[in-house]
Amino acid sequence: MRIPRVGLGTDVHPIEPGRPCWLLGLLFDGADGCAGHSDGDVAAHALCDALLSAAGLGDLGGVFGTDRPEWRGVTGSHMLRHVRGLVLEAGFEIGNATVQVIGNRPKIGPRRDEAQRVLSELIGAPVSVSATTTDGLGLTGRGEGLAAIASALVVPAE
Ligand code: MG
Repeated sequence: MRIPRVGLGTDVHPIEPGRPCWLLGLLFDGADGCAGHSDGDVAAHALCDALLSAAGLGDLGGVFGTDRPEWRGVTGSHMLRHVRGLVLEAGFEIGNATVQVIGNRPKIGPRRDEAQRVLSELIGAPVSVSATTTDGLGLTGRGEGLAAIASALVVPAE
């Protein structure tokens, strides 16, 4: 019997005024993006971590650590494609994944379908996207940062 394995991922980045806003593999015009070693796509990073976690492959820091200059400026999409490859190489199929963005802006709803399409294509399995706010509380509520939480399910290939 092939028993599925669940994985969990979280990411938080500070918002940097004027920086392009890459989130969920999409560019959101008119919103401030997140600072970071890469494009600051917290949703893509959380999804990567969830996939690595499900496959028992450690975490994002171990794969794309800030001590690895070759990954500097890498896009969240590129990271997701790379992680998908690692998960498949490790002998798993990806079942599905979900990611929730926590923050005030940008508004996710109008682009949810597009984000789900893009992310699903990147990992080769269905990805669900949701979003919430924290009612003005905390770093996301004050607009200082964006957070994302993700989970993923993988299944041994044989
Ligand atoms: Mg990150």
